[in-house]
Formats: sequence, C-alpha cells, structure tokens
Amino acid sequence: MTAKVETTLRSPQAYGLARQVVDEIEAAGVWPTPLNFELWAHALGDPDGALAGEIKRLVAASEPFTEAVTDMLAAEHLPRSRLTEQIRDAGRVLDRELSSVSSVIAQAHKSQAAYGQTLDQAATSIEAAANGDGLRTIVSGLTTATRQVQHETESLEKKLEVSTQEVVRLREHLELVRRDAMTDALTELANRKAFDEHLAAACDHAESSGSALTLAVLDIDHFKHFNDTWGHQTGDQVLRYVASVIGRTAATPRFAARYGGEEFAMVFHHESVTMVEAALESVRKEIASRSLRRRSTNDELGAVTVSAGFAVRQTGETASAFLERADAALYASKRSGRNRVSCAERLPKAA
Ligand code: GH3
Ligand code: MG
Ligand code: MG
Repeated sequence: MTAKVETTLRSPQAYGLARQVVDEIEAAGVWPTPLNFELWAHALGDPDGALAGEIKRLVAASEPFTEAVTDMLAAEHLPRSRLTEQIRDAGRVLDRELSSVSSVIAQAHKSQAAYGQTLDQAATSIEAAANGDGLRTIVSGLTTATRQVQHETESLEKKLEVSTQEVVRLREHLELVRRDAMTDALTELANRKAFDEHLAAACDHAESSGSALTLAVLDIDHFKHFNDTWGHQTGDQVLRYVASVIGRTAATPRFAARYGGEEFAMVFHHESVTMVEAALESVRKEIASRSLRRRSTNDELGAVTVSAGFAVRQTGETASAFLERADAALYASKRSGRNRVSCAERLPKAA
C-alpha cells in the first residue's frame, strides 16, 4: 500500500496528488513540513488505509495536529523513520570499514608469516651455501622479500588512513544525528529526551559535588484558548517566540528544553535562589510585555503570559521527585492567578 503511494508520486498523477496534499495540509492547519507532507501524501494516496482513517478521526474530533500527534502518526504509520534510516546507513558504513580494516590486517599477518618463512629458509640455505654465488642468490632473494613487505606495509598504511578518515566522517555524521534526536524541531530547544538526560546527569553531579542545582518549569497560560482563537499555526509561532526568550535567558551553562506541548524547563547550576528568580522574572516580564502580531495577517494578538515554578534540589532527591516539586510550584503559580513565578521552598506546607 505504501509502495503504491511511492509509485503514484512518480507517475503522471504525481503533481495532482502533491497539490491536493498541500491543500489538505493547509485545511488541517499544519505546517507543510516534509514529515507532514509525507503523512498526508500517504493518507490521500491510500484513502482507505489506517493512516487516512486516523487523520479523519482527528479532524472530526477537532483535535489539533500538534507535533506530538504528527510524530506519533509518523511512527505508527509511515514505512520508515528517517532517523532509523540514517542510523542504519551509518551502521552499514561502519561495518564496511571494520571488515575492510580486518581483511587488511589479516593480509598483513599472512605476508609477515611468509616473510618469516623466507628468512628461515635463507638461514638454512646460508648454512648449506658453499660459495659466493650461492650467497648472492640468497641475499637477492631476501632483498626482494623485504621490498615486498615494505610495499605491503605502505599500502596497509594507506588503507588505514582512508578508513580512519571514513570513521571520522562517520562520527561527525552520528553526532549530527544524535543532535537531531535531542532537539525539538519546532523551537530548536533541547527536547524532552535531552532534558531527561541532562537532569539525571545534573542530579548525579550535584549529589556527588554538593553543588546547588535548581530546576524551573514554565507553562504558557491559557494556551488552549489562544490556539482556539487564533489557530494552531499562530500558536506554533508563539511557541517559537516563547522558546526564543527562554533559550536566550538559559544560555550555557544554563540549560533549557521544550519539555511538553507548551511546557518548558530550565536548569540552573551553581546559582543562588535570587539569581534564578531574577532570570525567571525577566523571562516572565519580557513575554508579558510584548504585544504579538500574527505574521500572515498582521492581526494584533495581544500578549501571552507564562507561569513558572522552581525548586532547589535537596540532598538525595531523585530527578523525578525534584521535577514533581518544581511542577507543584508551577501549579501554585497557576492557582494564584498565572503570570507569576513561585518557589517550591516557599510554598505553604501541604496539610
Ligand atoms: P493553563 O493556563 O492552565 O496552562 O491553560 P492551558 O490552556 O495552557 O493548558 P491546557 O493544558 O489545557 O492546554 C494546553 C494547550 O496547548 C493544548 C494545545 O492546544 C496547546 N498545545 C500543546 N502543544 C502544542 C503545539 O505543539 N502547538 C500548538 N499550537 N499548541 C499546542
Ligand atoms: Mg501545560
Ligand atoms: Mg498552559
């Protein structure tokens, strides 16, 4: 079925289908990213398939096609994920290089063994050689064998050099793939996976060094209403804008991630509560003070606000307990009116 779509996209009907895909994507209010294009091409090319059915169901339920949703559709219904494909490619190149290196090494072993034999034979022949001519023949035989080994060593070095370059190239490529897998495509901040890894490592480090570690979570206020009013694409632009303010404030050695749909996290190392609070207040104020405009129509959208909560890690605290406390502080901000920053350590103790 999937193969049928791939074939249609190379047939006279291809451009008709592509245009239809663009129309449907626009009607669904999603960006025409390559992934969305692929999803809708498969759905329209196979209207009775499971993917088409799922998309119809989401449209009927007016579910927004958030990135989480399209990622899930892709993982479930597309024939392959680009990432696994790239990793598989990298694996293939690595296999090839490793087998080439091992065959070169095996060859080198063989020639060394043959050279050793030649030397042994020469030693025996020297003992038996009665005259100068005999010796000359032996020495010339040895010279030839030595040259051959030299030659093979040189070609071995060249082959290893090529393999080394290929492995370096491969490592750079894998680094790019790794970075891709750790980055949120919409906002270009670190994604949830990168955040989980960063927080776990930061907790380990704080535990062993005894240094301060502070975690903040931020959430856009009434974002569902914003999306319902202005549409999902405008919502995405706002997400990017909020992410850019957070990313700027969380320049290294701080760390920022898009942690969920409209939720962000920031990690502060070795910073005092006052410094963290000032950073979060500056993010909050900057976002609240900026009146946004819709790019396509220049409509005045007003300002969005964010709520934040933060917690200072306690000795022995796990990453998930730490996150839960920062979340509790965020919800305290939400409960007490939004557009504010709360500190977990200052919350009234739960009864
Ligand atoms: P609150 O102030 O309590 O946080 O209210 P809220 O409406 O922001 O919270 P709620 O959790 O009810 O809704 C979150 C909304 O965020 C739902 C969805 O419309 C929106 N959202 C989540 N992910 C995305 C995304 O990737 N793009 C867009 N445009 N909207 C998203
Ligand atoms: Mg939320
Ligand atoms: Mg929200």
